[in-house]
Amino acid sequence: MRKRILTGDRPTGQLHIGHYFGSLQERVKLQDEFDTFILIADVQALTDHFHEPELVRRHVFEVVLDNLAAGIEPEKVTFVIQSMIPEIAELTVFFSNLVSLSRLRQNPTVKTEIALKKELFGNSVSYGFLGYPISQAADITVFNADLVPVGEDQMPQLEQTRELVRKFNRIYGETLTLPEGKYGIFPRVKGLDGKAKMSKSLNNAIFLADSPTQIEAKVQGALTDPQKLRVNDAGHPEICTVFTYHQMFSPGIEELAGECRAGSRGCRFCKAQLTAKIIETLAPIRERREAFAQNLSEVKDLVSEGTARAKRVASETLNRVKDAMTIQYF
Ligand code: ATP
Ligand code: MG
Repeated sequence: MRKRILTGDRPTGQLHIGHYFGSLQERVKLQDEFDTFILIADVQALTDHFHEPELVRRHVFEVVLDNLAAGIEPEKVTFVIQSMIPEIAELTVFFSNLVSLSRLRQNPTVKTEIALKKELFGNSVSYGFLGYPISQAADITVFNADLVPVGEDQMPQLEQTRELVRKFNRIYGETLTLPEGKYGIFPRVKGLDGKAKMSKSLNNAIFLADSPTQIEAKVQGALTDPQKLRVNDAGHPEICTVFTYHQMFSPGIEELAGECRAGSRGCRFCKAQLTAKIIETLAPIRERREAFAQNLSEVKDLVSEGTARAKRVASETLNRVKDAMTIQYF
C-alpha cells in the first residue's frame, strides 16, 4: 500500500509563485510515490469569505487548473471538493471537544490572519474562523493521510492536528493515523510588498496565470533594499525581495549578491533580468493551463470522480471513529 498525502488550497483566488515554490513543485515531485489527495478547501475559504460565496465558487476550478498547470497529472491524483464530504464536518464536531479556546487563540498563524482581517471581524473573530484549524485536522485525518506537504504558515495547524490525533487515540483507542508535515525548499515566499507572506488575498502576488505585461508591472513595483537609492549604492541582498525571487527562479545565482553589495548592479537592471526569467519559467505553465481550460468539462469530471472516491474513504474512517466513540447504535 502506498502512503497517502493530503494537501490542498483554498479557492480564494488563483495560485501564485509562492504556491509554486512553497508547495506545488513538491506535490508534483511526490505524486508518483504517494497516493495524493488534493483538497479544494471551499468550506475553509468560507470562514473568511462567507459574505462572497460567488468568489469561492468561481475559484474552485481555477485552483484545480493551477495545480494541473504546475505539473499535477490528472490520472495520478485525487481532487476533492471539501464541502461535498460531510464526514469532514462530522469529525470536526468530535474534534472540537478535544481542544480548548485558549489553545486555538495561541496559534500564531491564526493570530496574524485575524490581525489582517480587522475589517471583517472587528474585535471579535467568528467561532468558525478561530476554529478552522480543527476543521483542517479533520481534512487530514478523515483521509488517513501520512504526509502533509505545506508551506511554513501551516506548521502550527499541523502541530494542532497531531495533538488532536494523539488525544483522540488516547481517549478512544488507536483509530486515527498520525500525520507528518513536509515543507518545500522555499516554505515562506515573501509578497511583492516585502512584508507579509505572498497571499492570494493580500494583493501582493504574482499569479501563475499572469501575462508577461502583468509580471513586468508587478516586478517593477516590488520592494527592494530601501537604503539603495542610486544605481551604484551598495545594496543588501539579504533584505531585498527581488533577490529572494532571483534565488527561486535562478538557483545558484550567488554572484548576483556580490555585485549588488559592491554597488555594481542597479535595481532597474536587476528587475528587468528577473522579469525575463519569471516570464520564461511561467510560459509553459500558462500554456498547460490554457490547454486544460479548453477542456473544462473533462476537468470537472475528474474532480467529480475524485470526490466520489474520497467520499468512500471518508465514510470508512467515520465508521471507525463512531465505533471507537461507541456511538454506533444500530
Ligand atoms: P489565502 O490568502 O486565501 O489564505 P494563500 O495564498 O495563503 O491564500 P492557501 O490556499 O491558504 O494560499 O495555501 C495553500 C498552500 O500554499 C498551503 O500549503 C500554504 O502553506 C502554501 N502557501 C501559501 N502561501 C505561501 C507562500 N507565500 N510561500 C510558501 N507557501 C505558501
Ligand atoms: Mg492561506
